[in-house]
Amino acid sequence: MSINFKISAVPTRENRLGSVTGYSGDLHDIVNKSKCGSLKNRDRCFSQSSSCNAGCALGQLSGIRDIAIINHAPSGCTAMAPNTDVTNRQLAAKRGITNATVFVGTDMDEKDTVFGATGSLKEIVLETYKRYNPKAIFIGTSCLTGIIGENVDSVVEELKKEIPVPITAVHCEGFRSRIWATGFDASDHAVLTSIVKPPEKKVDVINFKNFYESAREEITDIFSNFGVKPLFLYQNSTVEELSHLSESLATVSICGVLGSYLGNGLQEKYGVPFVNTINPLGVSGFETWLRGIGKVINKEAEVEAYIERERAIYLPKIEEVKKELKGLRAVLGMGPGYTYEVSRVLQELDMEVVWAASWHHDKKHDSGELPAALKYLGEHSPYNFKVSVADQQNYEILNILNEYKPDIYFSRHPGTTVWAIKQGASALCVNDEYMIFGYKGTLDFAYTVLDTIKNRSFEKNLAARVKLPYTDWWYNQNNSTFLKKEAK
Ligand code: SF4
Repeated sequence: MSINFKISAVPTRENRLGSVTGYSGDLHDIVNKSKCGSLKNRDRCFSQSSSCNAGCALGQLSGIRDIAIINHAPSGCTAMAPNTDVTNRQLAAKRGITNATVFVGTDMDEKDTVFGATGSLKEIVLETYKRYNPKAIFIGTSCLTGIIGENVDSVVEELKKEIPVPITAVHCEGFRSRIWATGFDASDHAVLTSIVKPPEKKVDVINFKNFYESAREEITDIFSNFGVKPLFLYQNSTVEELSHLSESLATVSICGVLGSYLGNGLQEKYGVPFVNTINPLGVSGFETWLRGIGKVINKEAEVEAYIERERAIYLPKIEEVKKELKGLRAVLGMGPGYTYEVSRVLQELDMEVVWAASWHHDKKHDSGELPAALKYLGEHSPYNFKVSVADQQNYEILNILNEYKPDIYFSRHPGTTVWAIKQGASALCVNDEYMIFGYKGTLDFAYTVLDTIKNRSFEKNLAARVKLPYTDWWYNQNNSTFLKKEAK
């Protein structure tokens, strides 16, 4: 599998990785079909709203400090800008730094739709550079620019002669992909092709792809045991730091879906090893991940010493709380990175996974291999369980919850968690990416699950006062009937 760094638009996950958004079956079936490549997408008879990959692409990039995002799009596509601005300010303040990144929209209108707007795009980019002096400029594309064939790449080439900072197009037209994670790849592609420079030396740094670096101090502390420092990407990173990513000892990620493109890209182009193990959630995830890092940086003895020390502190406590979790039944609805990781953690805690819904499914990652979390679960799960792929189709989730009546529903998105709660299910939003990180995170998570299950008054009260739009007719339909037959 090879990444093409010469093109400006990264191919979609559907085209590159054979990813799908519609499936209903079970763990063994989806693993086998993914391995042999026979997994096909199943369209829906009906679809609720989903997300646009531009949100992931521009959202990721906008965390970089002191840059400009210019979204060449109608104003509605730039509705994310205020939220991004607030997030950036808060996360910078938490670190005691400043982030002067600006998020601008070109506000394309009917006239632009007919006549094109490359002229005004150029003016806006020049004016943005003059006013804000950003360290890099990323120009996002939209459904509209894609439909009218706006040649943003040629504008970028012209502007490169006039602006002395990295400038590139980020191809994230919403209609290109049903999979919002395609936007993660577009942001990584933009960084790899416009910011990262060839290495001049090696430094004791590990690139750490994550979302919001909430475990920054803890991870910095852990890595200090091995003589390395983490460089968290992209929130609060600088253009200067990004330009040196090729000099790091390795790349790791908190989520396989999020980190796959950058990790494999740096490995392929600059030989920076990508530690592509299962992720550091739960005990087996954390230990496998640490050992993977230890191997790559030649610190295996130090890693084993750390594991032994920490095991003695946390494992007895985790074993104790497992007694209360044993046998509890769970349904999950998350992106595929976390769906299979959290399923594994729940099994480690002696809980039973009855259904795992994944927001999309990658048959493979850019290494050409089955995603590590899926592979691990396929080989180690003590039993088979139901799996579906649904891009946050909440009507399907509520049908599943109604049929299986689990003790708890886990999601990573509040928008789906709240529907489960309205139905009366106890639900936990695993929103913070580090909520199950390492031994301590696993122990804290286990306690949080217990708290959620024991205190049910909120769900009961809310469900008693909310009338959901779903009838028995809806609930009694088998979930797999929502999907059409596989495409030929
Ligand atoms: S790019 Fe397309 S899908 Fe994305 S927000 Fe704009 S119109 Fe919607």
